[in-house]
Amino acid sequence: MIKLNGLPVMTGKSAGKSWGPSLRARTGTGRPGRRRPGPDWQTRRMRITLLAGGVGGARFLRGLRRAAPDAEITVIGNTGDDISLFGLHVCPDLDTVMYTLGGGISEEQGWGRADETYAVQSELTAYGAGPDWFRLGDRDFATHIARTSMLHAGLPLSLVTRQLCDRWQLGVTLLPMTDDDVQTHVVIDDEAGRRTVHFQEWWVRLHAKIPALSFVASGAEDAVPAPGVLQAIEEADFVLLPPSNPVVSIGIILTIPGIAEALRTKTVVGVSPVIGGAPVRGMADACLAAIGVKTSAAAIAAHYGADLLDGWLVDSADAGPVRAVEATELAGITVRALPLFMTDVPVTAMIAQAAIDLASELAR
Ligand code: GDP
Ligand code: CA
Repeated sequence: MIKLNGLPVMTGKSAGKSWGPSLRARTGTGRPGRRRPGPDWQTRRMRITLLAGGVGGARFLRGLRRAAPDAEITVIGNTGDDISLFGLHVCPDLDTVMYTLGGGISEEQGWGRADETYAVQSELTAYGAGPDWFRLGDRDFATHIARTSMLHAGLPLSLVTRQLCDRWQLGVTLLPMTDDDVQTHVVIDDEAGRRTVHFQEWWVRLHAKIPALSFVASGAEDAVPAPGVLQAIEEADFVLLPPSNPVVSIGIILTIPGIAEALRTKTVVGVSPVIGGAPVRGMADACLAAIGVKTSAAAIAAHYGADLLDGWLVDSADAGPVRAVEATELAGITVRALPLFMTDVPVTAMIAQAAIDLASELAR
């Protein structure tokens, strides 16, 4: 372990890195009001807090855990995707993070359990009990049954999540963004008329094919961050935004009162979920279109804005277009380019290390 820029970092990963030029040398040492690291910064464990959705967030976290094995990592997970099915409380994004870091994920799908079977769902289908468009495996069902029984016993989701994660030993602390009921709804308009559907119905059943007019984080206004969320942001050396969906993952977390405000006092570095002007997996372009943001690395950074975002990692393929708008649309955001495909854990660890390096520089 060596100390670089005042932060403990792993040797090797950052040495001789070749992930492209810094597109803009940062001028100044950060905005006024930005918290500087305390005096104990060099001697204790690095504290990193992230906002994360499902697959993109979970895969990045696997690399981050490899790049910074000694860091205290806290993940604030999106629960806007949560849905009640067969009376069970399902948390797709929290579970994707839990299964991925716990080693129980289906690698092919990126979500759900490995070695899954579907006996329960086929029995339900035989009874005509729906919905049949949301696939739940038998092992996965057990998670939702355990979660729901604890919720029914009166435990808040944050404690239930901690209890479930105990089994998996994630190596990070996973917190739901809130213990309150917040659901992402989508306003659509088709031959059946203008209506609002649950995010999962739009995403999974309708495959995001019907254009979304808007997204609503239903219940967010009155929600409060889950215990530990604001503290994890305040006490972090820096905050990372993994390449999660900027609208329905990170965007929803930012609607919880107090979270965006807390981030504005911190050094925040994000990783673009868009490579070469297209989402890597999934249909993030359909979400971005609904809020009037182009599917480009530059447009997403501009959407987060310089008052939230200090540093932005873009894929090398996007370096040219980003450089073209750097001085104007991205003023105040330090951009760096490197390959951003999270092909395996070692490659993802290099991406995570680049995020740590940039955040360490900017937090100085
Ligand atoms: P979800 O909740 O399962 O949709 O997952 P997230 O919101 O955490 O992440 C979805 C985003 O991850 C999508 O917009 C993808 O473009 C992005 N993504 C997936 N794989 C990669 C990758 O290998 N590299 C980058 N940069 N982004 C990725
Ligand atoms: Ca999700």
